[in-house]
Amino acid sequence: MFSYRHGFHAGNHADVLKHLTLLTCLELLHKKETPLMLIDTHAGAGIYNLQDRFATTSQESEEGILKLFQMRSSALLTNSIRHYLQIIEGLQTQSNQLEIYPGSPYLFWQSMRSLDKLRLMELHPTDFPVLKSNIESIQRKRQDIKIDLTNGFTHLKAYLPPLSRRALVLIDPSYEDKADYHHVIQTLQESIKRFSTGVYVIWYPVLSRLDATEFPERLKKLCNECQLPWLKAELRIKGHQELGLSASGVWVINPPWKLKESLELDLPVLQSILEIAGMGQHSITNQE
Ligand code: SAM
Repeated sequence: MFSYRHGFHAGNHADVLKHLTLLTCLELLHKKETPLMLIDTHAGAGIYNLQDRFATTSQESEEGILKLFQMRSSALLTNSIRHYLQIIEGLQTQSNQLEIYPGSPYLFWQSMRSLDKLRLMELHPTDFPVLKSNIESIQRKRQDIKIDLTNGFTHLKAYLPPLSRRALVLIDPSYEDKADYHHVIQTLQESIKRFSTGVYVIWYPVLSRLDATEFPERLKKLCNECQLPWLKAELRIKGHQELGLSASGVWVINPPWKLKESLELDLPVLQSILEIAGMGQHSITNQE
């Protein structure tokens, strides 16, 4: 598992879908004043430099955030996409150049209110200290943030249920280890038993391998068994035969009110900007 470094993938189209969904969930949940527990079980390094050797080797951000960022003045953009791009713009040292890209821990931190708590977990021995130092460099006094060098799958239960009885949990493994599919389902089963009303956002790659194609069906079965509402949003930017990941999805359990309506506006725009050779697709479905 230690061969995976998110720096190679930072700002790719999958990050764009995931981070936009995450920010939208946060914005909708923040319409209520009650405190929120924000949890990132697979946090990564928190902030990425798109000019470093990881990002420049893979060049994945060129099919993702770099393309979208170039369109930041377009009238096509929705309010949610504009908000996401404004956060990114705020991180840059030179306004015309996109160099710094925020990972999910930064986006959580950026959106958290003084009454919210943030819990970040990362297992990689190299990425963990980077995450810690990135967050410590931005953390404000009295912000309740904990960063754990730990297995997010097994440690999540330590934070559930939260005292405030409101939480947004992001579960975002790399799936390079095929066991991650099983671990996500197992973690959700345990977490839902402890705390069934939490909002759980699960990212997954859309691939033609059996374990990957079965995964959304397994998530659906779990939600149906637990009688929990769900929403699935997928975005494809290129054909299956193209190099690299061509599509990904987010599965949201207990989706916040109006998330579907918001994504229904955003995904056609993302598709039209990010698609390659007219092969883009998107879909948004929820329980009947
Ligand atoms: N959530 C991050 C974001 O959106 O910016 C990206 C996370 S990346 C897809 C997955 C991360 O999980 C990697 O940094 C990897 O080192 C870490 N990881 C792998 N297995 C883990 C585990 N069992 N518990 C916690 N972190 C893990």
